[in-house]
Amino acid sequence: MTANLLAALVFCSGLVLTAPHEAKAHGIWAHVHVTGWAIEALPEGELREFFKDEELLNAAHFGAAFTDSGYWPQGGELQKRGNAYSEHIHWEPFVEEFIHWVRANDPPPWTTQESKKRVAFLLGIASHGLQDEIFDSLFLFQVEEHDGAGQDEADPASDGALVHAGKIRFMPTQYIPFDALLEVFENTGLKVEAEDIQDCVDIMNFLYLNDGPGQEVALSMYDEYHAKLPWSFAHFFDADIPGSIESEIQPTAAYMEAVWKRLHAEFGEEDLLTHTYPREEGTVLGTNHESVDSWVTFIFGMGVNDSGPLFATLTDDDGTEIPVKTTGTRWGTDRGRLHRYMPQDDLIPGTWYNLRVPAGIELVDGTTTSEAMEVRFQAPCDPSPCPADEPTPEEEVEPAQPTVEEASGCTSRRSHGTGWVYLLIALAALRVTRQVRGSGTST
Ligand SMILES: [Zn+2]
Repeated sequence: MTANLLAALVFCSGLVLTAPHEAKAHGIWAHVHVTGWAIEALPEGELREFFKDEELLNAAHFGAAFTDSGYWPQGGELQKRGNAYSEHIHWEPFVEEFIHWVRANDPPPWTTQESKKRVAFLLGIASHGLQDEIFDSLFLFQVEEHDGAGQDEADPASDGALVHAGKIRFMPTQYIPFDALLEVFENTGLKVEAEDIQDCVDIMNFLYLNDGPGQEVALSMYDEYHAKLPWSFAHFFDADIPGSIESEIQPTAAYMEAVWKRLHAEFGEEDLLTHTYPREEGTVLGTNHESVDSWVTFIFGMGVNDSGPLFATLTDDDGTEIPVKTTGTRWGTDRGRLHRYMPQDDLIPGTWYNLRVPAGIELVDGTTTSEAMEVRFQAPCDPSPCPADEPTPEEEVEPAQPTVEEASGCTSRRSHGTGWVYLLIALAALRVTRQVRGSGTST
């Protein structure tokens, strides 16, 4: 533990009760688990085999947490430097540069455990960045529409929902490939010291990414927010809501496969479109063009340029065109991994549509697409479901899936009221650590 960390902890000791609120996009525990679940959802093949090694799994899980580590310091120079590296590694240009580094310095097939762990760590970081883009660009708009809340509430609430539902299964331990990481930072023009990174990670691990007080802190977010965000808590794990935690699993798995192909120089234009909301022949949630429910979203396996002209077209089966607005990822950065297509007129219930994106999309590797991409989908009927989709008698007797609230009832319930006690214990431990380290540390 260094003098920087001690200084940072002094800041944190006054702010520890709000620390999880500072995390960006959805919670760190949720990132670790969506990444873990996505690995479990991988199709048979090289990448699935790769992750049969527990050490590699851990490196990916930790990478998924590491992405937000720089947001933990709550003051001083360390906060600035931590925020800078964390923001940087969320985005595709960093992922692309890391891929370049691997291909130039340690290309596949990887024969050492260290080489493999480095790749797994990169896949974890990349997964986290994509998940933030999806959650922020889609689910947060649902939160706003239904619960009148935003990122400040939904981010910590997502971890609260996860812990409350008894879904915590992965507990990553630290793995950071410092040498490669620092070189990639240098190649992308960011000056970062290993000591700063370690200090940020120490704070994250001590306060949050641990099997004790950290999970109690996350659980306390359930108590704080579940009454304020009733719709969100009922849908965090609803795979039918684009952008929900559950809905991120398939796109994350597909993106990991895309990054794997990029690492092997096997990525082609046919690999670019990894996922769509809704899926091919699926249904959007609503017809009102003023609602996020009417949006169509494409997820890409490589960063795309969203600052140039974009000419998506939306037509029904009769060829009637509905004007559509194209926007990239929520925070407006170039080279994001998704495009959102927003109808500018209401959709007609039950009508089938085709959303088509022409060739010419610029990618982060400098190439442009030569083929159009498209998805066919239906607007929901009113009343729903559409006649052709009416359930068969057999389907009608299928028991309904339990809601999140019901599902959590068969897990071991923990006493939520103890969350703040654990926080105070963490705070006390922090002070003891500071006193002990302060009396014997000179670095
Ligand atoms: Zn993040």
